[in-house]
This record gives sequence, structure tokens and C-alpha cells, in this order.
Amino acid sequence: MSPDYAVIGGGAVGLAVAWGLLKRGKTVTVIDGGDGAHRATRGNFGLIWLQGKGIGKTDYARWSQRSVLAWQSFCAELTEATGIDVGLEQKGGYKLFFDDASLAKTVNDYEALKMELGGNYPFEVLSHNELRMEEPEIGPKVVGAILHHQDGHVNPLKLLKALAQAVRMRGGRVLTGKIVQCVEKRDRFEIHCSDTTQIIADKVVLAAGLGAADLGVQLGFMAPIRPQRGQLLVTEKLPKFIRRPSLITRQVEEGGVQIGATNEEVGYNDQVTTAGLARLASQAVAAYPILGKAQLVRSWGALRVMSPDGLPIYQESKVMPGAFMVTCHSGITLAAAHTEFLPDWLEGSARAPDLSMFSEKRFENVSIEKLIEAGAH
Ligand SMILES: Cc1cc2nc3c(=O)[nH]c(=O)nc-3n(C[C@H](O)[C@H](O)[C@H](O)COP(=O)(O)OP(=O)(O)OC[C@H]3O[C@@H](n4cnc5c(N)ncnc54)[C@H](O)[C@@H]3O)c2cc1C
Repeated sequence: MSPDYAVIGGGAVGLAVAWGLLKRGKTVTVIDGGDGAHRATRGNFGLIWLQGKGIGKTDYARWSQRSVLAWQSFCAELTEATGIDVGLEQKGGYKLFFDDASLAKTVNDYEALKMELGGNYPFEVLSHNELRMEEPEIGPKVVGAILHHQDGHVNPLKLLKALAQAVRMRGGRVLTGKIVQCVEKRDRFEIHCSDTTQIIADKVVLAAGLGAADLGVQLGFMAPIRPQRGQLLVTEKLPKFIRRPSLITRQVEEGGVQIGATNEEVGYNDQVTTAGLARLASQAVAAYPILGKAQLVRSWGALRVMSPDGLPIYQESKVMPGAFMVTCHSGITLAAAHTEFLPDWLEGSARAPDLSMFSEKRFENVSIEKLIEAGAH
């Protein structure tokens, strides 16, 4: 039987959307590529993160916040359905500062955003000594921190496993090792894979991460996405000493400390470099000097899926109505929104969130370089 929806891409984005559609009674087939594909979901830092997002772009802050606030119930349902504990901790997170001027500037930015969000942006500024009460191992170079109470973290690999299982348990099909080469629209969509598998579906969701750059154009999207490398490190298992995650370190439930992540424009190169890892390590040791004695056990590089301005792209194809592009660079943070709210937009339901600010219209008649520059601020 052909499904209502074919979702191309079985990463955090495709599976979260697929689960949401299944929960609304739709039939769904997820088609996921081969092991050689770039897969951001398998290499990310695992933060569920609001602070700093959407400064000057309040709609993005609002959408991220909707997701962050939905994470607890989304996660509880996922765990109940699958029995998989995804290691969610959402008791706040820090942005650590090494100089007073950037701390002061960030506080101003957050105050402005807080006003735009109607006051619902619970953060507090901690001096070095106040931070030390929370994090006894914090280093002397850290002048202070912003603690945002809506931030947290999760085990992204367990999340991926749980989502795939939840999709299957709801009757969704997840086809792996299938690379979609071409999509045609006749009465319905015909999706052709490289191994001659063909799927017929009423609607298509293109959630193929970086794979959407090529497929997207076929489906009539601009699909202006690019890779951005992040390198990460992880230490041996250590006794718990980091209470809350930050953009620099997070201690996972088994004890290892993840240290991340670089932001590098190096195309499709996902290798690690000594210079990149050394930078990460020295920042982490400045934050928590005790890390200087820790053994590193692994390092890796992975590619972010970036739009020119860093915001998600949610767009229905004008050339092939019924085909939707769904992509973002914070797919862990936004997983709850992608399950709980985005399917209403796909369905055109009365409850659909207004996602018009994330359409590709914003890229029309604007040079990509200008947009990338705007996104960097
Ligand atoms: C270093 C790093 C750190 C990050 N840290 C965080 C973080 O802390 N918090 C956060 O929220 N986000 C973070 N992210 C971003 C997050 O990982 C991504 O937003 C998310 O994983 C994207 O999921 P996706 O499903 O769009 O893409 P992917 O995980 O890349 O999945 C895309 C899937 O599509 C499949 N595919 C591609 N082409 C085809 C095709 N032609 N046919 C069939 N299948 C195809 C691939 O096989 C792949 O499985 C980070 C990313 C990186 C790289």
C-alpha cells in the first residue's frame, strides 16, 4: 500500500516529522540513505538550547522556545512508547564568559530578547563566585556565566534510536540503505531509489540534511544549504563534576565529558585537525582546569546543515505542490516542535503554526553572501 507521506531522510528531522505524522493517523514511509552519507544526527553535541538563538530574529527564538518547552512531554511520550531513556536533562545551561565586556553585551542582547518574548526568557547572570557555588571545578579565567533555565541536553544517538523505534511501532516503514535519486510527480509522487526501489506517495517531505541540496533543486526548491564542520572530543569516563552543560562542555550520563564544537567553513571535509582539537581542548581546560588531566578517548568531525542565515527552511514546493522541504541546523533542539507542531503545517490544519518567516522567500533577490553575513551576527 502506498503511504500518505514519503519522508526522504531518516535523521533526527525526518524521523521526528514522521513520528508526528503517524501520531496524527497518517501512513508514512521513511527512506534513508547509505552509511556513506553525511549524518549530522550521529555527530552532534546533544544540546537542547535556547539561549543566544534568535537575537534580532525573534520568530526563530519563539519557535525554538516552543520546542524547548515541549521537550519534556515529547520525551516522556517517546520513552513510554519505546522504553528508551534518551538521557534528557533540562535543568538549565550556561554560556561561560572569559571577559566582562562580552558578558555585558550578551546580557543586553538577552534583555532585549526577553522583552520581545513577553518576559518569558528566564536567565540569570552569575558572577565567578556565584558560578563556583554551582560548579566547584570552574576555572579562574571564567569571569561569569549566564544560566538560562530552559536549556538542557540529551543523548542524540539514543534519541535517534528511539525515534526510529517509535516510528516503526506506530506502523511507519523505515527503509535504510536506499538512496533517492529522483522524484517525479504524476497523479502522485514517484520516488526512485538507486537500487530500483520505487515508492509512491501522496506527499513528500524532503528532510535529507545535506542530501537535500541536490534533491531539493529537482523538487523546485532553492535549497541553499551548505555544510559547516564541527569537531568534537570526548574524554574517558570521569566522576560527575559538571552540573550543567555549556556550549563548551557537557558531561554525559556515563561520565565522559564531551568538548565541542568548532564552526568551520571547509566544504564537505569532515576530518578532524590537530589545530581544531587543540583549540577546543584549551578552551575546555580554561573552563574546567581539572580536564587537563583527563584522557581523551575519541575525536570526530561532523557537518552541520546550514542555511545562509542559519534559520530553518520550511517550504512547500511551488513547482510540485505536496512536496515540502524541512531542514534546520538545530535538529535536536527542534525535534519536539517537528513532532508536535510541524505536521499540522504539512497537513494545512487550522492549528498549523505560522512558519512563513522560514520560507525560501527570504532568499529571493538577496545575494547569498549578504545572507550568510547577516546570519553570522
Ligand atoms: C558538530 C555538530 C554539533 C551539533 N550540535 C547540536 C546541538 O548541540 N543541538 C542541536 O539541536 N543541534 C546540533 N547540531 C545539529 C543537528 O545535529 C542537526 O540539525 C540534525 O542532526 C539534522 O538532522 P537531519 O535529519 O536534517 O540531517 P541528518 O542527520 O544529516 O540526516 C539526513 C539523512 O538523510 C539521508 N539522505 C541524504 N540524502 C539522501 C537521499 N538522496 N536519499 C535518501 N536519504 C538521504 C542521510 O542518509 C541521512 O541519514 C549539531 C550538528 C553538528 C554537525
